[in-house]
Amino acid sequence: MSTFHLQIVTPDGGFFDGEAEKLIVRAIDGNVCILPRHSPYVSALGTGEACVVINGQRRRAACAGGMLAVTKENVRLVATTFEWAEDIDTGRAQRAKERAENVLQKATEKAEIDRAQAKLKRALTRLSVTAP
Ligand code: ATP
Repeated sequence: MSTFHLQIVTPDGGFFDGEAEKLIVRAIDGNVCILPRHSPYVSALGTGEACVVINGQRRRAACAGGMLAVTKENVRLVATTFEWAEDIDTGRAQRAKERAENVLQKATEKAEIDRAQAKLKRALTRLSVTAP
């Protein structure tokens, strides 16, 4: 199986650096699928489920915001937050979801609504990635 060099970095530092066979991630305008020898490409990322195939194994993750850059040399995903499914604390995501929903019931200011909607989306993505 041919591979490409994938680097995933977050503000906390290097997250993954190795060979991958496939990456599916949510760009701002929909899901993109990166395979070996993909043409050069840059996009901002949205919030959604990501999937990386490594050594024939499909790993699911939650990814919220950032940039994806595909060059001839490598594929670099600079994510605002990125968690593998097995590292997600579902109780925390559930509490974050409830807090965001409570804020949305009362919020009147656009900035507050936007923040709560973004938080709700992150929480729903984390819950969906960890769902069986
Ligand atoms: P919370 O209110 O629970 O912090 P949030 O959506 O506001 O949720 P973020 O700002 O997206 O949290 O993330 C802050 C940090 O915590 C990031 O490093 C992120 O990877 C991590 N994180 C957030 N929620 C979870 C979770 N449910 N499980 C594991 N890590 C999480």
